[in-house]
Amino acid sequence: MQNAQGGALAPPLAVEPFYLPAGDEVELFEQCHHNKLAVMLKGPTGCGKTRFVEHMAWKLGRPLVTISCHDDLTASDLIGRYLIRHDRTIWQDGPLTAAVRAGALCYLDEVVEARQDTVVVLHSLTDYRRTLSIDKTGEMLEAAPGFQLVVSYNPGYQRMLKDLKPSTRQRFVTLDFEFPPPDREAEIVVRESGIEPSQARALVELAHKLRGLQDRGLAEVPSTRLLVATAQLIGRGIPVRRACRVALIAPLSDDAALVGAMTDLVELTF
Ligand code: ADP
Repeated sequence: MQNAQGGALAPPLAVEPFYLPAGDEVELFEQCHHNKLAVMLKGPTGCGKTRFVEHMAWKLGRPLVTISCHDDLTASDLIGRYLIRHDRTIWQDGPLTAAVRAGALCYLDEVVEARQDTVVVLHSLTDYRRTLSIDKTGEMLEAAPGFQLVVSYNPGYQRMLKDLKPSTRQRFVTLDFEFPPPDREAEIVVRESGIEPSQARALVELAHKLRGLQDRGLAEVPSTRLLVATAQLIGRGIPVRRACRVALIAPLSDDAALVGAMTDLVELTF
């Protein structure tokens, strides 16, 4: 069995990926898994969707296949293609086919970015059929036990949920993700970076003020991911204001007025 890169599918993770739940999402996901229901995770970038899927794959003891969707992604990229190797033609499974055969969790990140004709190949996997039709080989593949489709969707991006056909949308149980509440976000920052809790709380407080700038035109607000990156730099001895500048502010905007407003908030906090 081969994946898109031509390597063997990675085995299930042995070490638990740290995930701090916000509510009942772990139990809900487990129930979806046992009932063979596909799941959509809806929420802003960097709020923990990928970490959640990694955690669930570990908890359920399934391998995880992750596919980043973009508008050039074709059905063949997902399903597979014939390759010419030396003097022979060999079939190579795409990542979706590999996941279906292995009974893996298959995570399609940013599914709305993929073209409709690509997304449509998922349909037969999300209903009672649980099959994948591989036209090029004539194979009708039945999903191995444990196979589950998970997709993510970021409502802040240009493409909208309505860009997905209703017939696609209605195939997914949809879990809403938000940035964690302040005390939990601080706990995550401490766990992921090792900085002092008081410093993590100050960073989270700063993030909340920065998120408030959305009303003043900040298109992307700082995610938990950016907070963790900033804290990791601080933990390695980079001065706090410098770390905030490069890891928290610069990735968000190059508009001078917004950068100025964000810098003021950093200097007020630290
Ligand atoms: P997304 O997939 O939503 O873009 P990620 O799952 O990659 O975001 O989250 C970014 C980072 O934020 C993770 O690598 C992790 O360090 C941290 N993180 C966010 N939420 C959580 C959480 N609930 N538990 C543990 N870590 C989290």
